[in-house]
Amino acid sequence: MRKKGLLIVISGPSGTGKSTVCKALIKKDKFWISVSATTRSPRKGEVDGVNYYFLTEEDFKNKIKNNNFLEYAKVYGNYYGTPRSQVLKAIKEGNDVVLEIDIQGALMVKETYPEGVFIFILPPSMEELKKRIISRGSETPESFMTRFSSAYKEINYVSKYNYVVINDTVDNAVRNIESIIAAEKCRVDRVKDEILDPKEGITYEQLDDKSIYCRSIKKSGQ
Ligand code: 5GP
Repeated sequence: MRKKGLLIVISGPSGTGKSTVCKALIKKDKFWISVSATTRSPRKGEVDGVNYYFLTEEDFKNKIKNNNFLEYAKVYGNYYGTPRSQVLKAIKEGNDVVLEIDIQGALMVKETYPEGVFIFILPPSMEELKKRIISRGSETPESFMTRFSSAYKEINYVSKYNYVVINDTVDNAVRNIESIIAAEKCRVDRVKDEILDPKEGITYEQLDDKSIYCRSIKKSGQ
């Protein structure tokens, strides 16, 4: 049986640079990327089925009813959701899947898929967060205040996550995420079934120099 892949959920408040970090991570390492569905209109250059599946609100709500989403949330007036069956199939086939989603969605995934790896991205300071939101150039004073104050409140959710990564530079953030993923792949509860594989047929009587410990060391060529 093929080993299951990891579900890596990257989220955090608006303006922390999580999508820039995810883009850099995906460029460097091989991950299966989930394409979300949304009711917001496509931005210039965005392609249906590549950046998002762009749906009407009616279609989106039907998919909610039919339990088609692993998680969904309303973010700043639009719905966003992760297609359940595609993601679970990719994991089952051994792919490591990255979801870059908002905090409400991440908490919903944690309820149904607690074995995921939940990473919270933080800015180096609130001052820096303010600068990053302003530098996008797309905010009115009112929308800036909405995003900044909700980011402020959202930081409290960090304790629900497994890891926190400070996005001081994109390179540092990517390096830390890669280290988290490497460590998660070595967790005993994830690899024990493989190491203690009964199909290898070590019986109680054969436990001389072929102990399970030796077997795993030999397997990894040490
Ligand atoms: P944007 O409209 O700028 O592409 O995304 C707005 C926000 O929606 C971002 O915080 C992004 O992480 C979040 N988002 C994108 N896709 C999903 C999704 O499938 N589920 C949830 N919960 N949030 C999403």
